[in-house]
Amino acid sequence: MNTHKHRILVIEDNALNMELVTDLLEAGGFEVCQARNAEDGMAHARSRPDLILMDLGLPDMDGLTATRALRSNPETASVPIIALTAHAMKGHEKAALEAGCAGYLTKPIDTRSFAATVTSFLADKVLRTTLNQLITSYEH
Ligand code: MN
Repeated sequence: MNTHKHRILVIEDNALNMELVTDLLEAGGFEVCQARNAEDGMAHARSRPDLILMDLGLPDMDGLTATRALRSNPETASVPIIALTAHAMKGHEKAALEAGCAGYLTKPIDTRSFAATVTSFLADKVLRTTLNQLITSYEH
């Protein structure tokens, strides 16, 4: 049994979405850290959660700007960010990837697959890290 709980930072201003996402993640065995605006989220991100779920519509700063800031900061650049985009707006998804998000999830959230999808994003992160280590050891 894996005793290490992956820690997910959820940056989301909508209380109902926050409650739903938190419940689903905790039921899926994740530890959840909550932030209700971008400033609070960026402060929490410095503790290096395993993954960040970023709502793109935040009250103080849009999620794409927050994502770019986190990606360009060496302290937080290695933490994968998954965008939460409303109503499957295709333009937003493309913009999310261009801003440095590793992927996106569309709202309304699919409650049955949500935790499994987050797990698959974490698996991608582990694979990328392993590949990067292999490449680094090959080059040197
Ligand atoms: Mn929002």
